[in-house]
Amino acid sequence: SVPAAIASGLSSAARHGMLVKGGAVMEMLAKAETVAFDKTGTLTRGEPAVTDIVARDGDGARVLALAAALEAESSHPLAKAICERADAEEAPRPVAEAVRTVAGKGVAGRVGGRDVFVGAPRFALEAGEMDEALRETARTLEADGKTVAIVMEAGVAQGVIGLRDEPRADAADGIAALGRAGIDAVMLTGDNARTAQAIAGELGLKARAEMLPEAKVEAVRELAAGRTVVMVGDGVNDAPALASASVGIAMGSGTDVAMEAADAGLMRSAVLDVARLIGLACTTMRTIR
Ligand code: ADP
Ligand code: MG
Repeated sequence: SVPAAIASGLSSAARHGMLVKGGAVMEMLAKAETVAFDKTGTLTRGEPAVTDIVARDGDGARVLALAAALEAESSHPLAKAICERADAEEAPRPVAEAVRTVAGKGVAGRVGGRDVFVGAPRFALEAGEMDEALRETARTLEADGKTVAIVMEAGVAQGVIGLRDEPRADAADGIAALGRAGIDAVMLTGDNARTAQAIAGELGLKARAEMLPEAKVEAVRELAAGRTVVMVGDGVNDAPALASASVGIAMGSGTDVAMEAADAGLMRSAVLDVARLIGLACTTMRTIR
């Protein structure tokens, strides 16, 4: 019977660490046409590491110390990486005041009486100036798939920090498996276009970059207007986008918030499991039809 076939599909998925919240979700998964992925923590490991520190005046240690002073107050993965590097180098930790995170942009505060901002180049430049040598460094780092954090002090860029978040080992295979099933894959990210393109190129999918959290929701809604869209994300920030998709999938160590907003959950942080789950849904529904 139909309910029995679906129940068997659901339990088979569960045995493989893929939790699906009911038969209606299974049915929708079988119709998937597009899969939208969050980048950080979903397609990538979400554990960026500092690869480069370049200072305007050659004093990289000061740039790192300034950045770490602010990032100590932020819970962003980039913040963690910068603080770890500062600790490893035993950099001094100047005191920062009035620190505030600017969602999707960076972190701002005051150090030694001067305004400091650490974050995405396009927002750093709204608030100040940056010399051509640093601009060129930033572009080169981004073309290598690195995220660049600009360290601004009193309206002048003091340096750039390059960080690289490696793609998950099975990310390219997972995207290829979707492609073989005739399913489109797209990456949505708050990261800049050059970095996003470099990573997307390595993985073989399209990218939409420089998206603030609201823009991701809007993009998923637009896609879902004409097609059956699966959204895969891992974090708190992804909850609204997961809820806007035809099917939202929370991945891996997914936060409780993401799990709650989602229709399905992958216990393992495996990109291949997305294709496996859709394949299983198709098999289940075919048994029925
Ligand atoms: P993603 O979509 O990659 O998870 P976010 O929306 O968290 O990205 O952030 C978008 C961009 O804002 C990041 O790629 C980074 O450039 C910048 N950013 C955000 N928070 C910070 C921070 N604490 N330090 C440095 N840069 C940050
Ligand atoms: Mg994420």
